[in-house]
Amino acid sequence: STITQIELLPEVEAFLNNSPLASFVGGKDMVSANGQTVATLDPGSGEKIADIQDLSADEVDAAVRVANEAFPAWASLPREERYAILLKLADAVEQHKPIIAQIEALEAGKIEAQAQGDVQNMVDTLRYFVSLDRDVEPRVKLDVAGHEAWKFRQPWGACAFIFPWNFPFLLIGWGISPALAAGNTVVIKPAEDTSLSAIYLARLAKQVGVPDGVINVVTGRGATAGAALTNNAEIKRMSFTGSPEVGRLVGEACGRNLVPVKLELGGKGAAVVFNDVDVRATAEKLVGAITFHTGQVCCDATRWLIQKDIYDEFVQHCIDKMKTIRIGHPLDPNSDMGPVVNPKQRERVLGYIQKGQAAGAKCLCGGGAAEVEGQNGNYVQPSLLAGSLDNVAAQEEIFGPVAFLATFETEEQAIAMANDTDYGLANSVWTQDESRAARVAEAMIAGNSWINAHNVFAQGVPYGGVNKSGLGGGVLSIETLMDYYRSTSVVRPL
Ligand code: NAD
Repeated sequence: STITQIELLPEVEAFLNNSPLASFVGGKDMVSANGQTVATLDPGSGEKIADIQDLSADEVDAAVRVANEAFPAWASLPREERYAILLKLADAVEQHKPIIAQIEALEAGKIEAQAQGDVQNMVDTLRYFVSLDRDVEPRVKLDVAGHEAWKFRQPWGACAFIFPWNFPFLLIGWGISPALAAGNTVVIKPAEDTSLSAIYLARLAKQVGVPDGVINVVTGRGATAGAALTNNAEIKRMSFTGSPEVGRLVGEACGRNLVPVKLELGGKGAAVVFNDVDVRATAEKLVGAITFHTGQVCCDATRWLIQKDIYDEFVQHCIDKMKTIRIGHPLDPNSDMGPVVNPKQRERVLGYIQKGQAAGAKCLCGGGAAEVEGQNGNYVQPSLLAGSLDNVAAQEEIFGPVAFLATFETEEQAIAMANDTDYGLANSVWTQDESRAARVAEAMIAGNSWINAHNVFAQGVPYGGVNKSGLGGGVLSIETLMDYYRSTSVVRPL
């Protein structure tokens, strides 16, 4: 028997035994009238764990109607009542953390301890936006000579969210928390590979008293259920997190309907490493970052730009560290790195390693699929490529544990190389020189820069990309909360 059959919590077993799992709309199960379902596989073992509904466009449209119908009552609740309900939901999610984390580990191939961190992050984010919303004044006086004037803020209505498979539960938290705190209702379309934790959340929300229709989850394929939500003209806002290719389609549809849209897309971040760092410690941290969730992290540093005189030493430490990474099933506590999400994603990662080499890059470490005894999952080796930055593997997002190395000599050159990309999500600079660190951090074009670290997040620090990496930004901060309010200005001559 595989580890997935051994380790499941009874609550997770019970949840999965309800398969095919229904979507959740208006406080009720919604099943696809045409009987279509999509299989959810465990990326670690390749085994099916459940089926979800593949909803039709009509069913998705019905969910949007339900969310808009639930809106007036939710928005007009005294705000402390709304907050109390949301804080109850945060507490419930925290209590159910081991269950949700195991569901997430199973469907997303995420190391269980990391999945627990993601669930806690969702809880913290929900609490954060509730506390932030307390300080939002619905009426703000405006200073206009000879007039009384104010602006009045109110929520929009049904807000739509389309999420990817890499951080299913954490991104739900980042997305819906500001919307709900401000008094909007939500329709969530999770990725088809990772819809289970969202379904669990919607049911839990009902149990703790979130009114029916406030949190709705519609599941199904991107091209059908996702496209239906995107093309629905009754949604008041759209927030999409995923690939630039689909992001463009979502942006086009929202443009046609004049629905405000936020896009959080891919990345091809740089880590610029100067010669004054602790070479070994820096190499180990960057290997830690690129192997975290098997490199399926949009803000990862995937282009490592190393000052020439420390390059050889840096590479050796990277290879040494990569060789210590234990690859295994996400529910095995001895695993450092799990699989990628599905066989297609594994082909994509291995394909880029091949294409990169065909275009002249050298493979310094890894480069192939990985085998895990007794498991038929989508495992790949952590890998290093090196070469010129015009290489396809240095320009396109791979979304796997693969870093591309190149060298630089001067600070100016390093900045130019870091900015030689269509993306602009997140970069880092590594140096002991504080003024150089700040200079380079600000000169790299992206939504986020880190100094001597990569992938550090905190509620209150705006997150989000520019250029091909996104539109909108400001995630996790007051900026996003304000997106979920529309404002009306009122002016009266005195
Ligand atoms: P994807 O774009 O393939 O899918 C994302 C979502 O869109 C899924 O729910 C999918 O069902 C849906 N979808 C697919 N086709 C659609 C269509 N035609 N209309 C509407 N919806 C459709 O992305 P993915 O492969 O799930 O995720 C990986 C991508 O997400 C990477 O590019 C990664 O960098 C990006 N990402 C970005 C962030 C960020 O915050 N910037 C965070 C996580 C992931």
